[in-house]
Amino acid sequence: MRRLIVVNVLIFAVLASAVGLAYYGYSYTADASTRDLKILQDTMRELAVEKVGGIESLIVDSDQRLFDAIRLDNLAGLGGVVENTHPWVHSVIVLDDNLTVVPDGYKVVGEGSKDFLEMFTKDIVPTLPLVTLAIGVRGHTFGEWNGQRFLFSYMNLVWGDRIYHVVLEENWPAIITSAFPTFLPRNTPRLYKIIDDVTGVTQYGVPQLDVPPAQIVSQPFVDTFDRWTLQVAQKDTSASLARGRRRAIDFVLIGISLSVILASVVFFALAIRRERRANELKSEFISNVSHELKTPLSIISMFGEMLAAGRTKSPQQATEYAEIIWRESVRLARLIDNVLDFAKIERGVDVYEFAEADLGDVVARALELSVHRLQKAEMTLSSKIEPDLPAVRLDANAVTLAVLNLIDNAIKYAAAGKKIEVELRRDEGALVLDVRDFGPGIEEDEHEAIFERFYRARAVRLKPIRGSGIGLALVQHIARAHGGDATVTSKPGRGATFSVWVPIEEAGEA
Ligand code: ADP
Repeated sequence: MRRLIVVNVLIFAVLASAVGLAYYGYSYTADASTRDLKILQDTMRELAVEKVGGIESLIVDSDQRLFDAIRLDNLAGLGGVVENTHPWVHSVIVLDDNLTVVPDGYKVVGEGSKDFLEMFTKDIVPTLPLVTLAIGVRGHTFGEWNGQRFLFSYMNLVWGDRIYHVVLEENWPAIITSAFPTFLPRNTPRLYKIIDDVTGVTQYGVPQLDVPPAQIVSQPFVDTFDRWTLQVAQKDTSASLARGRRRAIDFVLIGISLSVILASVVFFALAIRRERRANELKSEFISNVSHELKTPLSIISMFGEMLAAGRTKSPQQATEYAEIIWRESVRLARLIDNVLDFAKIERGVDVYEFAEADLGDVVARALELSVHRLQKAEMTLSSKIEPDLPAVRLDANAVTLAVLNLIDNAIKYAAAGKKIEVELRRDEGALVLDVRDFGPGIEEDEHEAIFERFYRARAVRLKPIRGSGIGLALVQHIARAHGGDATVTSKPGRGATFSVWVPIEEAGEA
C-alpha cells in the first residue's frame, strides 16, 4: 500500500514537473518574442521621433532665420533677404495691425499671382490666429483653401509702437522633393511612409506591404504638416519571419516533449497496473492450485488408509475404493502436468515434440480418458470425428492435454447442460475441433480474457468451483504452437463452443 502511494505520488510529480517545464518553456519563448518585438518597436519609435524632429527643425529654423532677418523699416529689400535665408519660402506677406498688406509687404520668390494675394486677404487671413498670437512666437497652419493646400508660418513683430504680422507661405512641395529624401531615404532597411491621417492617402514614401501592424510605428508632425504622420517599418521581414519560425519550432518541440512524457507516464502507469494485477492473479493461482492439489490428495489418503486398515465391507467396495484412488491420482497427475507445462511455457522452454500423427486418433484417446469423470458428473458425450482426415505434425501429449482441459472445463462449469458434443472436421486448410457444452456460457466481453493466464470469468469467481485459470491459456498456447489458434463462441445461458484449429499444411512449423 505504501509502495502504491509512493508510485502514485511519483507519477503525479513527473506529470506536474512536465507540465511545469512545458509552461516555463512556452512562457519563455513567448516572452522572448514579445521582448524582441518591443526592442524593434522602441528602436523604430526613436528613429521616427528623430526623423520627424529633423524635418521639422529644418523648416522651423529656416523660418526663424527669416523672421530674424526681416527689417520692417526696409521692406523694399525683403526679396533679397528671403532668397538668402530661406530655401523653401514661396512668398512673404507683411500685414499691419488692421490685417491689411503694408506697402512693399508682399514678396514672391519666382512666379507670383495676383489672385493669391486676393484670396489670401479675403479667405485665408480671417482663418489664421494672427491677432491672438503672442509676439515673437512662431505659429503655423497647414490647410486647404479653395481646393489648394498651403503651409503658413507666421510671427508677430513689433516696429515702433505697432504690431506687424509676418506670414511665410512655404513652398511645401519643394520641401517634400528636396528635404524628405535626405531624411527618409528609400534604400535603407527601413520603410518610411507619410500618410494623411484624415484621408489615409500616402503623401510620400514606399508601401509597407506584408509588414504586421505591430511592427509599424507612427509619429505625427506637430510644428509643420498638421495631420500628417510618419510611419516607420522594418523592410527586411526575413529576420522576423525567422523569429516566428523559431518560435513555432520551439512550440512544436515543447508539444512533442510533453506528449512523449505524458505517453510514457500513462504507459508506465498501465504497466504497473498490469503487473499488480498479474501479481494478484498469481497469488490467487497459488491458493487455487494448492486447494486443487489438496482435495484429491486427501481423498487418496482417506481411501488408501481405509484399504490398508482392511476397513471394507466387501471385495466390491475395496475395488470401488481403489478406483476412487486411481481416478483421483489421474486427476492429480493432470493438474500437476498442467502446472508443470505451464511453468515451462512461462519460462520460455520449448516443450513440444512434433511428429506426424492422426489428430482423430489423438482426440478419440483423450475422450476415452474422460469417460469416468463424465459418468460421475452424469453427463453424456457424443463425438463426431470426420473419417480420412490427413495426418498433421503434432505433439500428441500436448493435444491430449488441450482436449482434456476443454472436457474438464465443460464438466466443471457446464454439468447442468448434461451433454457435451465433440466434433472434429476439416475446414478449408485446417482441422477444427469443436467442444460444445450446454451450460451457462460466457459473457461476450470475457471471450478473449478467459484465454489469459490466471483469468477466471466473473460468473465463477464467487462459486465454489475451484480452478487455476491456466487451463485455457495452455489450450491456446498449444494451438498456437501448432500454427493454429483456440477461440470461443458463446452466448450467456446458451452454452459455449470452444474451437481449436490447426492448419493442415503448416502444422507444427509455427
Ligand atoms: P480454470 O478452469 O482453472 O478457472 P481455465 O483457463 O480453464 O481456468 O478457464 C478460464 C475461465 O473460463 C474459467 O474460470 C471459467 O470462468 C471460464 N470457462 C472455461 N470453460 C468454460 C465453460 N465450458 N463454460 C463456462 N465458462 C467456462
